[in-house]
Formats: sequence, C-alpha cells, structure tokens
Amino acid sequence: MADVNLVEFERARRVIPGGVNSPVRAFGSVGGTPRFMVSARGPYITDADGREYVDLVASWGPAILGHAHPSVVAAVQEAAARGLSFGASTPAETALAEAVRARVPIVDKLRLVSTGTEATMTAIRLARGFTGRPLLIKFAGHYHGHSDGLLAEAGSGLATLAMPGSAGVTEATAAQTLVLPYNDLPAVRAAFEHHGPDIAAVITEAAAANMGVVPPDPGFNAALVDLAHEYGALVILDEVLTGFRVGPAGFWGLDRSYTPDLLTFGKVIGGGMPLAALGGRAEIMDYLAPSGPVYQAGTLSGNPVAVAAGLATLAAADDAVYARLDETAAIISKAVSDALTNAGVAHRVQRAGNLFSFVFGSFETAPRTYADVLRQEAWRYRPFFHAMLDAGVSLPPSVFEAWFVTAAHDEAAVARILEALPAAARAAAA
Ligand code: PLP
Repeated sequence: MADVNLVEFERARRVIPGGVNSPVRAFGSVGGTPRFMVSARGPYITDADGREYVDLVASWGPAILGHAHPSVVAAVQEAAARGLSFGASTPAETALAEAVRARVPIVDKLRLVSTGTEATMTAIRLARGFTGRPLLIKFAGHYHGHSDGLLAEAGSGLATLAMPGSAGVTEATAAQTLVLPYNDLPAVRAAFEHHGPDIAAVITEAAAANMGVVPPDPGFNAALVDLAHEYGALVILDEVLTGFRVGPAGFWGLDRSYTPDLLTFGKVIGGGMPLAALGGRAEIMDYLAPSGPVYQAGTLSGNPVAVAAGLATLAAADDAVYARLDETAAIISKAVSDALTNAGVAHRVQRAGNLFSFVFGSFETAPRTYADVLRQEAWRYRPFFHAMLDAGVSLPPSVFEAWFVTAAHDEAAVARILEALPAAARAAAA
C-alpha cells in the first residue's frame, strides 16, 4: 500500500522548496518522511493517512488550550462571518492590547503584527530609532525569527561583530549584530565596554527554548537590564515562545524583578492564527509611526479573525489552565527521564516553567550555553523520536526544540505517551 505521507511529500517537493513551508517540518534532523497533517483536536493530531498521534508540538506553542478549542473556534467563526479583513482599526484590537496590559503591566502600549519575526524585527528597528545607535547584542542559540540581522553567527572572539548565518545576509548587515554566549554576563560587560555608545539593544529570549530549553541563570535577565541601562541601551525580552505559555504573564511574570524596555509576543497571543505583537514603555512605543518616526505597517496587522482567536485564547487561559500545563509538563518530563534512566541513557531534563526538553549524554552540570548543548549525543534523539512516532506520539522533530504540552492533554493522552516511552528509551540506548 502506498505510504500516503511519502506520496504527499514527493508531490509537495515538486512545487514547494524542500516540500515544506518552514524547514524543521522536513524532518531533516531526524530523517524519515514528514507527516502531512489534516486535522487536530484537543491533544491529538491526524495525518493524511488517517493516523492519529498525541501531539507534543502544539503548532510550536500556540495551542495551549489544545487544538480546535471550542471557544476559540466559535470566536473565529463568528469573526470570519463578519468579514475576514477590513484594513481599518477594530475595537477588538484595542481589547487585545488591554488584555495584554492587564496580564503584563509593564506593557503600556502594544502594536499588533502578523509573525514573531515581524515583532522582533520591528522591536529592533524601534530600539535603533529610539536610541539612535546601530548595534544589537544577541545570544548564540537564541532564535528570534528570520529577519536578516538576526541570522548572524558568532564571530571568533567575544565582542567581535558577527558573520552572516545564512546565504543572502550581507556581511554589512551581520556586522550590526554582536553574538555572545548565553548566560555569560562578563561577555555582555566586555561587549558594552568595547562598543557601549553604539549598542542600541540587547535582545534575549525570556528563557531560551530554540536550542532545546536553556533557562537563564537566576538573575541573568535582571542583570542584563541593569547592564544595558548603565550604557543607555534597551533590552528586548523576546516572549514569542514563552509569552502566555509558561504563565499568565509569560516568563517575565514568573519573576517580575526587572523591567525590559520592549517585549515581543507571538504564538499563544494569536491562538493559532497569524498574529504577534511588540509592546513596552509608552515613551518608546510612541516612536512608532504614525506617532513617531520609526516606520512599521501591515495590510493584515490586527486582522479581525486572528485577533478573535487571540482574545478567546487569552480569555480561556485561566489559572486552572496554567496549573494543568505545569502538572502535565512535570508528569511527562519525569516519565521520559525515568524511562531514559531505566534504559541506561545518560541525559538531563531542561526546564523553564512548563517548557522542557532533554539533552542526551553525561553532563555534570546543566547546559547553560549553545556550546554546551551542542556537546550532547544528539544522534540518540533520532531513534527515540521515530519509536515515539511509530507508537502514535508526535514529538518536535529535532532535539533542539522544546516540547509543548496543552491543557487538553488528559489522562488518556498522557497514558499513551507513557506507554510508548520504554521502547523509545531502549531505542535511544542502542
Ligand atoms: N522569537 C522566538 C523566541 C521564537 O521562538 C520564534 C519562532 O519560533 C520567533 C521569534 C519567530 O516567530 P515566527 O515564527 O512567528 O516568525
């Protein structure tokens, strides 16, 4: 019988570069045939072959309530029936900005865009426009979307300007970004000592989760804000992945001891629709057009259907949802760890709130930087991933991604994951 997913992949490859519209979907790092999905409900997702999986990707984060949550779907249907896009302001956009401000009170004003990439790109332009400075600090292993200046790779030494991290990014653009090791305050200080008057901003994932999960050292984010402010630079806290997922006020809300100047949101804020945002201090946000000189715009910015999905998602994501996400993350991460231990696979569990991932290999201390996580036995993930997939559990197709639980992962869904683990752990041990 023809493998339906393989047929779909071959068909897609004829008309879509690499057969996918975002590279990780091609299963490049785990091999095998990517699954083409046709529907999803609650904790489950169904492929083109009619096979159902327990989903631990959750659309890479947005689906905190589970897929096709009834109140979100109803809100989207109602909004769609009123018109898909107006190209004019709507009361619902203001309501979403108010909802975000109620959760994250350091956000005075919010600008809606369509993707996390746009949110960070605009936040950086805004930081440059506000400070009048050119340079940006980012951390190795942090992902902030695919705008040119953020696709920069670390140069050879500390405080050197970066090299292009993708074909098509010019050296001149990459050289506007300083790439530093994460959790390394002396490196940040050295960069400010060398380039201080030229640095517009430091951008950091609130907790890194795009190299696997690597939380900031306690106090790191706060120290970053202090250091940047000492030199007149801004801090952009990228909460695209963590925002409204690890808690009602994102990763910042778990601590609140520091005040970044700008924050970026995506994923959960759009409830699965293309919507993202940047927000922060009014004085800075008012630098955006039309009130200020920093240009930004979008035909579909604040799209009414996307805003409806975001509002419905935030309305449903109450304390009980966050308690459930935390509990489910604790159960699954412990079960995976136990299964790996029983199979003799050395590993560490990495956690930031309800986000988690695993590093394979013997680590005396938890990895804190990109260089640390690159030292792992990444090849063990491939057989582990496929054993889970064969058993009907869809994991992120790369060891360098976080696992995402939803509030819809009930006992039955969790039980299916737990059943699949011993064989997958043995596969990882081989
Ligand atoms: N920032 C972070 C922390 C992300 O995880 C991502 C995407 O995964 C982005 C920005 C880019 O968001 P988008 O894929 O919506 O452009």
